[in-house]
Amino acid sequence: MAAPHDGAEGAACQAMIERALASSAAVRTLMRAMERAGCPVDRAFFSCERCAQECQGGYDRARGVILCQQHMQNSRSLIEATMVHELVHAYDDCRAHVDWTDLKHHACTEIRAANLSGDCSFSQEFARGNFNLRAQQQKCVRRRAELSVAMNPTSQGSKDVKDAVAAVWRHCYNDRAPFDAA
Ligand SMILES: [Zn+2]
Repeated sequence: MAAPHDGAEGAACQAMIERALASSAAVRTLMRAMERAGCPVDRAFFSCERCAQECQGGYDRARGVILCQQHMQNSRSLIEATMVHELVHAYDDCRAHVDWTDLKHHACTEIRAANLSGDCSFSQEFARGNFNLRAQQQKCVRRRAELSVAMNPTSQGSKDVKDAVAAVWRHCYNDRAPFDAA
């Protein structure tokens, strides 16, 4: 059943995808890296839908990157951060064949996606009401990675989640590929 503004909301989401593809250096860097890694993607890789869950987007091997149109708030920076976040998952899946049932695998790609996407940028954190900005990046990345891994059905509780994130933290937080490539 479509919501009253479903059509306009979907169209706005599609238009923001077009704009991000044309103007976001981070989106283009990731798409080029996927091509080099043997997983070329194009416009059709991105779709908008009304998501059932309280998430901004998702990545699925079969369906590509999904943007949750009702949560995009007509915000260019939010949709770009979401596209980059999900593209980091897609890139990791391409280059490292992520085993989504392995919490450490999942934790690693969530750490990278949160760290590299702008999810934890000044304005996004400010909008969430986190005003203590000193050393906020690491705390934010850790918190968001833990929240994402907690949604993994394999997880048996918060200790499992914290252990998985801690086990891969240093390596994955410092792995900035493909953004560190010359
Ligand atoms: Zn994620």
